[in-house]
Amino acid sequence: MPIEFAERIRRIPVYPVAGGYDLGEDIAMLASNESCFAPLGAVVEAAQRVIAGGNRYPDPSYSVLRGALADRYGLQPDRIALGNGSCDILLAAGEALLEPGAEVVYAWPSFSVYPHLAAASGARAIEVPLDADDRHDLDAIASEITVATRLVLICNPNNPTSTAIGLEQVERFLDGVSPNVCVILDEAYAEFSLALGDPYASIELLRRHPNLVLLRTFSKVYGLAGLRVGYALCGSVDFRVAVDQVRQPFYLGIAAQAAALEALRHQDEVERRVERTIALRLALEETVRGLGVWVAESDANFIWLHLPEEAVEEDVVRGLAERRVLVRAGGSLGRDGALRVTVGTEGENERFVGALAELL
Ligand code: PMP
Repeated sequence: MPIEFAERIRRIPVYPVAGGYDLGEDIAMLASNESCFAPLGAVVEAAQRVIAGGNRYPDPSYSVLRGALADRYGLQPDRIALGNGSCDILLAAGEALLEPGAEVVYAWPSFSVYPHLAAASGARAIEVPLDADDRHDLDAIASEITVATRLVLICNPNNPTSTAIGLEQVERFLDGVSPNVCVILDEAYAEFSLALGDPYASIELLRRHPNLVLLRTFSKVYGLAGLRVGYALCGSVDFRVAVDQVRQPFYLGIAAQAAALEALRHQDEVERRVERTIALRLALEETVRGLGVWVAESDANFIWLHLPEEAVEEDVVRGLAERRVLVRAGGSLGRDGALRVTVGTEGENERFVGALAELL
């Protein structure tokens, strides 16, 4: 007789993981929105140094890293949640807030982890379609909030469509949300946004909205996706306490903590890399548009394009992989006939565009 699993195991969708990790060298890995820049030497050294003390558990209060983030953002350390990637905080939020009878509202297509939250908890997921420009429709989202709503997720800029909405729209939306409903503003890509201007302006909103949580990560701008460090800036201490309550105490290893801490000390270089990524993105968008393909206005480190009608998504994705370029098929992310392509190095982007031109 097979093992009998909990009912939710049948409900939880399988995360559309990227393939290609077994294809060896010389692959343009443009499928997971990682940074194309390797961690800085000082960051690698900081992580290596602490491994010598690996017989000890990490400090379970993560006081040094939380203190550094608190200083950087001008918040009390007890309003900084950390996680094994920001995904860890998202899943913990689902566990802490949702249960059968509760509802979670988010736009769709959006980040592929969001559907897990409802499936894992037995809550109801309300997926609100993006507008005609593949942007969040906050009025439509607001109209789906009911007495059962516990959590609203706003991904800004949105993964997979790369689009951002202005902070004044978010602010107006928050003003209309009851303070007992938690709103997570997932800002994994905020620093890459030209539309948002100041990527830190949202922090001001925390002062007026204790139900707001800003979710951020070291995986994108800081280029530490493999180390797994995410954080949340919380409008209230309650959220941080709740997400810590549902997790194991040691969710963040010492090397990851040391790397993140060191990365924060090199903000100038981090910002130069962001600028370089934006320049590469603008060039990539322009070249792809030059092929006659519709590309969304990207505010992230990836682009989102709609394939011409005659193109078959699967064939294009397979053809790109045969040319050693890995991208993400829109079909696996909620929209058929689209592609999500991470901004790579100049060479990687050229390889992608060359391959796409051949295939179309
Ligand atoms: N939010 C969004 C919108 C993302 O795209 C991602 C990563 N793809 C994450 C959160 C999670 O990133 P991490 O767990 O690496 O911090």
